[in-house]
Amino acid sequence: MSTRTRFAPSPTGFIHLGNIRSALYPWAFARATGGKFILRIEDTDVERSSQEAVDVILQGMAWLGLSHDEGPFYQMQRMDRYKEVLAQLVAAGHVYPCYMSVAELDALRERQMTAKEKPRYDGTWRPEPGKVLPAIPEGVEPVLRFKTPLQGVVSWEDKVKGLIEIRNTELDDLVIARSDGTPTYNFCVVVDDIDMAITHVIRGDDHVNNTPRQIHIFRALAHEPPVYAHLPTVLNEQGDKLSKRTGAKPVTQFRDEGFLPEAMVNYLARLGWSHGDDEIFSREQFVQWFNLDHLGKSAAQFDETKLRWVNAQHLKAMPEDALAPLVQAQLAVKGLQADARLPAICGLFKDRCDTTVALANWATAFYADVHPNADDLAKHVTPEVKPALELLANKLNALSDWSVAAISVAFKEVLTEKGLKMPQLAMPVRVLVMGTPQTPTVDAVLHLCGLEKVLARLKVA
Ligand code: GLU
Repeated sequence: MSTRTRFAPSPTGFIHLGNIRSALYPWAFARATGGKFILRIEDTDVERSSQEAVDVILQGMAWLGLSHDEGPFYQMQRMDRYKEVLAQLVAAGHVYPCYMSVAELDALRERQMTAKEKPRYDGTWRPEPGKVLPAIPEGVEPVLRFKTPLQGVVSWEDKVKGLIEIRNTELDDLVIARSDGTPTYNFCVVVDDIDMAITHVIRGDDHVNNTPRQIHIFRALAHEPPVYAHLPTVLNEQGDKLSKRTGAKPVTQFRDEGFLPEAMVNYLARLGWSHGDDEIFSREQFVQWFNLDHLGKSAAQFDETKLRWVNAQHLKAMPEDALAPLVQAQLAVKGLQADARLPAICGLFKDRCDTTVALANWATAFYADVHPNADDLAKHVTPEVKPALELLANKLNALSDWSVAAISVAFKEVLTEKGLKMPQLAMPVRVLVMGTPQTPTVDAVLHLCGLEKVLARLKVA
């Protein structure tokens, strides 16, 4: 039987790194096993769901290359199907109407709390042989409750947490349809997982409490539940659960901040899974190596410094032709248009950058004016060095061949004629031409900058 996994986000807020990791693993497992990955949008919380949130989910997944094979399926479009299956459960005697009012439920909870008991529905309306049910109140539409087995345990072998066993006495009879007939969350999830033939449910461990209930519903519908893997939480740098409220960013913001999808996949993969000590790997390697046996058991903590390091490694390894369009996209944000030099610029600067935004900042010096700061000018462009700068400008202007080698020769001639050391000349040139004293080798920088611009910038001296 081939594997079928799913990602089932609720579009109730933007999708952050913790959420998208719950897409990455089922995606990788489907790819690793030659199975199918299904996208399901759980939009039944109509008040809080939005199209905007759906768009960010789709954009984030597309950016990271987490392509789905089926879907997106929207739960709101499957209501008729849920009602059909609900009717089957009713017919098979697995559910019963409950007329307990909200006020009665509140009073019950109050009594249980006072008695230091766990608040739970007490089965008042659950039919049993020989039991006399209360008189049905007039004008009240009942909710439908699921008959949880009264004895025994429900258990599953979680791929992350190991064997989990819950006594059925811990569970009360879950409402699976509201009084207006709309099905509730746990029921819809089970119908979907059955209809979509999901074999492995890989999701956040905030759903562990739902799992015993879902397993009972599976069995009532004569289906065996899938394999479950509940992923530990992702914490932020302060150790709080990653969420919008605690400052998490939408996934797409990392794209805008210049992170590479390959690096994000690499970083997220390591946030709760490992392959020996491997830290840097490609998407292909990840898919080749991924299995459910090496998922981490403890909460993972987001670490932006580490993410930047991973990004820098991928950036370094990326061919300059592939980097150039990404850097052009960042330049476009500043209203700048690059040219054929951009791949070479990327090649020259990529080793000192951790994002494509940093790379674009360097590239900006080639496509817009530079503004050296007063301190750098005062420190490096001293009156003593100005004659040497002028001589350099003249020599550069006279070159018949604008090559790195010829530029290097011109530098050496000036150093000899003026009795200077390389840094005494190279620093002021860097400050004037690139706006900063820290650049890669100065001849290569000047070569890419072009004679005209170099002369104009040296003239300022
Ligand atoms: N919609 C749920 C969520 O966003 C996921 C449900 C599931 O994976 O079963 O947390």
